[in-house]
Amino acid sequence: MAQITLKSLAHSYSPNPAGPEDYAIREMNHVWHQGGAYALLGPSGCGKSTLLNIISGLLQPSDGQVEFDDSVVNELPPEARNIAQVFQFPVIYDTMTVFDNLAFPLRNINTPEDKVRQRVAEVADILELTPLLKRKARNLTADEKQKVSMGRGLVRDDVSAILFDEPLTVIDPQLKWKLRRKLKEIHERFNITMIYVTHDQLEASTFAEKIAVMYEGQVVQFGTPRELFETPNHTFVGYFIGSPGMNFLEVAIEGEHVVSGAVTLQVTPRVKSAVGRARSANVKLGIRPEFIEVHAEPVEDGMEARILSSQDLGTYSILQLRLGDITLKARVEEDQRIPRDKAYLRFPEQFLGLYVDEYRVELEHE
Ligand code: ADP
Ligand code: MG
Repeated sequence: MAQITLKSLAHSYSPNPAGPEDYAIREMNHVWHQGGAYALLGPSGCGKSTLLNIISGLLQPSDGQVEFDDSVVNELPPEARNIAQVFQFPVIYDTMTVFDNLAFPLRNINTPEDKVRQRVAEVADILELTPLLKRKARNLTADEKQKVSMGRGLVRDDVSAILFDEPLTVIDPQLKWKLRRKLKEIHERFNITMIYVTHDQLEASTFAEKIAVMYEGQVVQFGTPRELFETPNHTFVGYFIGSPGMNFLEVAIEGEHVVSGAVTLQVTPRVKSAVGRARSANVKLGIRPEFIEVHAEPVEDGMEARILSSQDLGTYSILQLRLGDITLKARVEEDQRIPRDKAYLRFPEQFLGLYVDEYRVELEHE
């Protein structure tokens, strides 16, 4: 069991990196606490597998340190790190039985055979592999093979952490949900640090207490699913989390007003002065589709918008709106009246985020 600390970590696959774009991991400081159930969430190519491989020791980082508790493990080979890793595709021995595959990591560290039998039985039970224990792995379906692969990752109870790299990609959707529940159960039972990599926000938020959102080689936010939804720290988080993602409007001060392109926005004096304080040409206001007020009739400080389309999703609708030359999405609940052609919008201040150079900044109190 260990706390995993990443200090000024960076990695480039290029021997002569010229700039930040040559780094798969860009200057990262991060702590994974002992016993946490974490997700590492980000789009394909953002560096998730690279990061896991650095933690497990399959890859040596170009810069910085990996620490387990208080010791630096950069020089330790994977075997010595006491970490289990489950990959996207099954890693099993085809000629061995399911039992021997599951027993392998235990026998490897000279576990007594009675303990091996006990742990294999436990893990097989959790993953519903008991009827298959005597089968040769080569005769299994793709799903079954991946379950065995996961079982190999779960069978040791003395590991510092278990790293899962998109382990459910090859599993069918029904089983996926079930296996995710199982992993959570195992986490609760054994209190092992787990880092679960995925590009799927739903998968991340059903598994993890805290999610690290990764973008272009950096963790741009580490928070609970709720924090990521309510206060995205970076425009990427706003855009990536939520369905549809957050609306962003590029804004500037023009005379007495906050404008976005040709549109004058109705915002509070506090928002206006915060926009005015930003020392950058890259300033955005963000608001989630759920939090835009949509009125069918003119309201005070309402901004008139055109409705481009309305998509009925059962208990709510997603409206696509045009405010001047800005396209926005808004969510309207089924008990609300859906306007037909025109709508009057308000952006309540408590739901507006101000983003300067893509990072969120506080609206200060007046
Ligand atoms: P993810 O797992 O989030 O999809 P990866 O960690 O696999 O991302 O990749 C991060 C970046 O590093 C990508 O740009 C990818 O092309 C590059 N990369 C990954 N593995 C290698 C490698 N072995 N050699 C060179 N570049 C690599
Ligand atoms: Mg990957």
